[in-house]
Amino acid sequence: MKEQNNIKRSLLIIDDSPLNIAVLQRILGEDYQIYTAWNGIDGLKAAKEHEPDVIILDIIMPKMDGYQTIALLKEDVHLQNIPVIFITGLTDRNEEEKALALGGADFIVKPFNPAIVKLRVGSQIRILNYISQIERMGLVDSMTGIANRRGFDERLYSEWKRTIREEGEISILAIDIDFFKKYNDTYGHLNGDLVLKTIADVIAQTLKRPGDFAARWGGEEFIALLPDTDLKGATAIAEQVRANIEKTTVTLRDGRNTYTTVSIGVNTQKPSADCCVDDFLHDADEALYKAKADGRNRVCLYSDMQKEEK
Ligand code: GH3
Ligand code: MG
Ligand code: MG
Repeated sequence: MKEQNNIKRSLLIIDDSPLNIAVLQRILGEDYQIYTAWNGIDGLKAAKEHEPDVIILDIIMPKMDGYQTIALLKEDVHLQNIPVIFITGLTDRNEEEKALALGGADFIVKPFNPAIVKLRVGSQIRILNYISQIERMGLVDSMTGIANRRGFDERLYSEWKRTIREEGEISILAIDIDFFKKYNDTYGHLNGDLVLKTIADVIAQTLKRPGDFAARWGGEEFIALLPDTDLKGATAIAEQVRANIEKTTVTLRDGRNTYTTVSIGVNTQKPSADCCVDDFLHDADEALYKAKADGRNRVCLYSDMQKEEK
């Protein structure tokens, strides 16, 4: 990730209208280094070459439209994290939904207001600066790109306090890859790392709310914090994570494909001042062990275990 100071952030504008490109260049050229491409195919080439900080993407273009272009961007590990702002003459709400569902970070309708374009690009840049800052603080796991345990602990602490103050509910998912040792033994450690990276991506992409937070807990274990989420919501998310991982193909370094599954323990609490955050984590782990013992590739709720004990 580039430093935020001194060097200009860069934008790639992909649009088949020379007039639009010229207008955007005028609006944004002073603040950013601008690259341009007139169609999706050239846009992908330019993205690979320059790895811009943000991509502004038109939807209707000849040969390859914006939807096809973003799908290919999201398949490329080097490009998939670049935020894409769609800018389009299509005003249908369904188009906006489709654009965001494909991984678009934002959606601007033409004719656009220059001030709003500046602000929208600015907000993506602010997020990038925030991520750079977190990376510099040593709170990110370098292999998977999601938070590490330290990053998670900081977040958990502040969310826990906030939940107590607001008398809300908070949930957590403890996620562990099934039979992971076997992947390392069969395919080697580097391929094992690739599996870890893929799983981290799937978890991060499955969590949709801005407050949700995923981290690598250590080894082949992950954790997801879901603030303001009740047991029902957390169970649904856990099931989505489990199902999404089950259907994800991991392409190994030699091109072979493999699949993997995870077991997940879910815990939800409405904490009070005398509640201990360690118990909250410990009970999620208990539920995870139960999911393993019950046969793996499943979600287990700590609240169900308590009912069984009674
Ligand atoms: P279970 O279904 O019971 O969870 O079985 P498992 O094999 O996943 O569990 P176990 O905890 O016995 O093994 C975890 C393995 O994860 C051991 C270690 O080789 C592997 N591992 C931990 N960290 C890394 C890593 O950073 N990279 C790779 N490639 N492997 C790792
Ligand atoms: Mg483990
Ligand atoms: Mg495991």
